[in-house]
Amino acid sequence: NLSDKLDKAFHVLKGHGKITDVNVADTLKEVRRALLDADVNFKIAKDFTTRVRDKAIGQNVLTTLQPGQLMVKLVKDELTELMGGDAAGINLSGNPTVILMSGLQGSGKTTFSGKLANYLKTKKNKKPLLVACDIYRPAAINQLQVVGGQIGVEVYTEEGNRNPVEIAQNAVKHAKANGFNVVIVDTAGRLAVDEEMMTEIANVHKAIEPQETLFVVDSMTGQDAVNTAKAFNDRLNFDGVILTKLDGDTRGGAAITIKSVVNKPIKFIGTGEKMEAIDVFYPVRMAERILGMGDVVSLVERAQEQYDEEEARRLQKKIAKNEFGFDDFLSQIQQVKKMGNMKDLVGMIPGAGKALKDVEIEDDAFKHIEAIIHSMTPGERSKPAVLDAKRKMRVAKGSGTSIQQVNQLLKQFDQMSKMMKMMQGGGGKNLMRMMGG
Ligand code: GDP
Ligand code: MG
Repeated sequence: NLSDKLDKAFHVLKGHGKITDVNVADTLKEVRRALLDADVNFKIAKDFTTRVRDKAIGQNVLTTLQPGQLMVKLVKDELTELMGGDAAGINLSGNPTVILMSGLQGSGKTTFSGKLANYLKTKKNKKPLLVACDIYRPAAINQLQVVGGQIGVEVYTEEGNRNPVEIAQNAVKHAKANGFNVVIVDTAGRLAVDEEMMTEIANVHKAIEPQETLFVVDSMTGQDAVNTAKAFNDRLNFDGVILTKLDGDTRGGAAITIKSVVNKPIKFIGTGEKMEAIDVFYPVRMAERILGMGDVVSLVERAQEQYDEEEARRLQKKIAKNEFGFDDFLSQIQQVKKMGNMKDLVGMIPGAGKALKDVEIEDDAFKHIEAIIHSMTPGERSKPAVLDAKRKMRVAKGSGTSIQQVNQLLKQFDQMSKMMKMMQGGGGKNLMRMMGG
């Protein structure tokens, strides 16, 4: 995947104490190849590496003390910029605010409609109404009703009405009359872009004049996603993109290209099938994730709901004093487990997505990690550096794992600690604030 490829690319730089022009060129070639492999459009990938190269030259990367790190930063900043820079909000100014979902069948419109309703209800204190305008499959209406039932949100349907424009208009009237301040209209999709579907959704769009027209796209469809986005944008001039199925280690190629091609912000991401698996899209976090750093900030943000302030403050101090140990790691894992679906979360942990990519991820994905930590002495947990070969062997035996697994965990832990330390420096002010600092 893209992260692995970029790791390899940066390895070229990290491995050399000194870098040369040749190293930079080699690395950028690898970066470009990695982007192409992740379905990023050729021209975009080429322009991207050209820009990074120019900046690297401009900043005299070769003469700095840590050229590898600076290159990583340049690539990260450029990726962030490419995906839109700042996070784009959602416009909730209407009364009611009307939100129209568009996209192909199976892209995740119905699921996302439910997630967004739940998000607006629980996080933004709104009273949303869901509207079933997918009139072609009775099962589709039922699906939205099930979703509405799960989250306690009313679903507007019209049994037997075959006119989505009428249904949508009536739903808005119903919302006005009954105090709903957000109307989320779920529509029908097709398996591919076709004229009938486009005309239908364009008619609904014209009739209800939504504040937000959102294009929902499955992030696993790669380059195709970009073509579909273009087709929908040409007809609807939509306001934002929703990237679904960005679970675990899904590559980020679509995210990178869509923004540059349609010039519309990505507003939310879907990271699982559950109603809670929705996150605001932050370009910088996505860039970090693509670069294999794991989306620590998102993870912390989600964890925050379960975290008590005391614990957060305690952790923050430990990180600052370089005292973050395996006991803290263990308590973090337990927090993470409390938060629900492992599949959604495991990809956000630095290194874990990669470490576990060959493993069938189940809710006990952390079983080995926990066993290994439990087999360490308290001293080893707080100072992992004392783990020499002999101790590692004992830990592996005690936990029923292999010495490789122990080493892997140590390495992961080391990366994570370094990163937490780094975030404390400058870029991670958010993290610290969210952790109670
Ligand atoms: P629609 O045809 O556009 O309405 O798509 P649906 O909402 O019915 O979703 C199609 C399938 O994708 C369903 O099985 C959903 O559970 C699944 N799905 C939707 N969003 C996500 C997501 O973010 N992650 C995962 N893993 N599955 C999703
Ligand atoms: Mg649907």
